[in-house]
Amino acid sequence: MTRHDLATLPKAELHLHLEASMRPGTAAELADRHGRPMPPTGPFTGLGEFVHAYERARDLVGTLDDLHRIARELVEEAAAQGVVWTEVHVFPPTYAGRLGPDEAVLEAVLEGLRAGSAAVGGASAAGVVLGVNRGLPMAAAERSLALAIRYRDAGVVALGLAGDEANHPAERFTDVFARARYAGLAAVPHGGEGAGAPSVRACVEALGAHRISHGVRAVEDPHLLTELAERQICLDVCPTSNVQLSVVPSPARHPLPQLLAAGIPVSINSDGPLFTGSSLLQEYDLVRTHFTLDAPSVATLAETSLRFSRCPADRRSRALSALHAWLTEDGGSCPKSAHI
Ligand SMILES: [Zn+2]
Repeated sequence: MTRHDLATLPKAELHLHLEASMRPGTAAELADRHGRPMPPTGPFTGLGEFVHAYERARDLVGTLDDLHRIARELVEEAAAQGVVWTEVHVFPPTYAGRLGPDEAVLEAVLEGLRAGSAAVGGASAAGVVLGVNRGLPMAAAERSLALAIRYRDAGVVALGLAGDEANHPAERFTDVFARARYAGLAAVPHGGEGAGAPSVRACVEALGAHRISHGVRAVEDPHLLTELAERQICLDVCPTSNVQLSVVPSPARHPLPQLLAAGIPVSINSDGPLFTGSSLLQEYDLVRTHFTLDAPSVATLAETSLRFSRCPADRRSRALSALHAWLTEDGGSCPKSAHI
C-alpha cells in the first residue's frame, strides 16, 4: 500500500504560538541583531522551564517589523506543509508596551499574516487567537477581550487562555469568556496540560470552550471523556510538545488513541516548532507511525482540524473537497522537499 503524502493533505493548524513558530534561522538572525541569546530548546523539566524558554524567544523580537516577518514566515511555512488555515496564539500584553501599544503589536501580526498569504498566492491564510495569560492581573484579560472584540472582523477569531493552570484556575475567567462567546469569538483555552482532568472540565463548564488546547489529561476521568464526545469539543493535541514537557512519558504512550476511541474530535498540531524541533508534518507522521493509522484515519484528523476551525467557509469547503480527492487520488503533486 502506498503511503499518502502528508504534505498534500489539506489541513488546518489550530494550536501554534507565534514566537514559537519562528524559523531557527530567523531566531539566530534576530539574536545576533539584538544581541540576545538563543532560547533553549526541549526537552524541558516542566512548564516553568518552558515558559522561561518562551520568554527568551519573545525577547528576540525587537521591533514591529520583526513581528511582521515572523507572522509572514509562519504562513509561508504553513503553505509548504499543506496547511490552508492557521489559528495562531498571540499575547500582546506580554510585550508590556515595549513595542508600542497592544493595537500596534496585533496589527503588525495581522499584516504579516496577510503578507504571508499573499506571498503564497492565497494557498494558506491565518487568523489570530488573542490570548489571556492566567497569571497576569484581570485588567490584562479585560484588555485582551476588548482588543479581540475590536479586531473581530479584521483577523481575530478566538479568545485563548494560557499560563499556569495549577495556580490560576479557569473559573476566574468565566465572565471574560462569556462575553467573548457573546461577541461571536471562539473560546479556545489551554487546559489539561499543566493540571489534570478537573482543569479540562473547568474549561468546558466555566468557559464554554469550543476547543481546548491540549486537553490530554482528560483521560484521567472517563466521565469527562464521554462529556467531551457528547458535546463535540475538539482537543487541539500536540504530541511532541506533550512529551517534551513531560505531560506524557513517550510518543507511544500518548493518549491520542483513547481520545479518538471515546469519539472526541481531535486535531493534530505542533504548538512550538522552535522549541520542539518538530513540524506539523512530523507530528502527523508521528501519530501515523506510532498508532498505525491508515489514510482515512489520518484524513479524519485533518478534516476535524478544518471543521472545528474558524476558517472562512469558502476556503474550508475547497479544502474539504481537496481532502476527499487526496484520499482517492493518493495525494497529488507537491515539491519533493516538502514530502514526509
Ligand atoms: Zn500551547
